[in-house]
Amino acid sequence: MSLNENLEKLSNACGIAGREEEVRNLMLKLMKPHADRIYVDKLENVIAVKKAKKSSPKVMLAAHMDEIGLMVKTISKEGFLQFAKMGGIDDRILIAQKVIIYTSKGQLQGIIGSKPPHIQKEEERKKIVAYDELFIDIGAESKEDAGKMGIKVGDPVGFDAKYAKIGKDTVIGKAFDDRVGCAVMIETLKLLEKADCNVFAVGTVQEELGLRGAATAAFGVDPDVGIALDVTVAGDVPGVREFDTTVKMGKGPALTVSDSGLVTHPKILRLLLDVAEENKIPYQLETGLMGSTDAARISLTRQGVPSGAVSIGTRYIHSPVGMLSLKDAEDSAKLTAAAIQKIQKHF
Ligand SMILES: [Zn+2]
Repeated sequence: MSLNENLEKLSNACGIAGREEEVRNLMLKLMKPHADRIYVDKLENVIAVKKAKKSSPKVMLAAHMDEIGLMVKTISKEGFLQFAKMGGIDDRILIAQKVIIYTSKGQLQGIIGSKPPHIQKEEERKKIVAYDELFIDIGAESKEDAGKMGIKVGDPVGFDAKYAKIGKDTVIGKAFDDRVGCAVMIETLKLLEKADCNVFAVGTVQEELGLRGAATAAFGVDPDVGIALDVTVAGDVPGVREFDTTVKMGKGPALTVSDSGLVTHPKILRLLLDVAEENKIPYQLETGLMGSTDAARISLTRQGVPSGAVSIGTRYIHSPVGMLSLKDAEDSAKLTAAAIQKIQKHF
């Protein structure tokens, strides 16, 4: 299956942080044909292993399976759902969103409601409405009715957005952070089919809650090198200054020089740059951005692991729907696969 087809499946699946099972099942299915062994660890990271014949460094790839979302917190006696946020979500993007509640009885649709603007006071209309003043409306008549529909405290809630290709290489959909990393990781394994290398491709859990899955996976794998495959902010939209970010959608994989959790190991950065230039793969360098990736956590494992990150510049991340270029994703896989094959010379 092509990267586009894999990304469509992965993007449409639900995987709120801590509730990644649907994505994990997909990852098991999609990585299995390209791995010598595949297993799920105790925190439920999925790990596909490709073994080398001769001794070579152990490379851990990490792409997180979880996405930002919501969780049912309380149910009002009128049948409205209050919610908690799972991961960093800007309150301003929540109003009037269509959502899906994943109950034990199946999926339910709802809308994030708020006090209608027509009956708001002048000063209320100027204010940002905080998430704890919003509610999910599932059309239930009462708390009891919501219960009968299957709603329980703790049910995960995801945004309702379907994947679509809107241009030659441009796609839109939900949870590109980090399903595109997952799709790139599968593609990288595919490209390494005949290569002799040691790769542990890990679909991690709970990244959005503080890089949790990467911590246990890296301890278990004990890699020599770590590479995270993730998204980064594409700043090529009105209102963003070049000073804030130079990464643009469609201009190649973004290589992290540093972010708030990682300074990319100089040998890893050199390796990625050399490989990009040798293979004429376009790339962009990025530094000084808030936030981080699984690479930050891998780098601090045991005695330390030289690590870096290859990111796909994505518009509107941490919102219900994002936009990216498939070309950037394909180039990220090419770059990562080529770097893995060259790693011996650099270490
Ligand atoms: Zn991410």
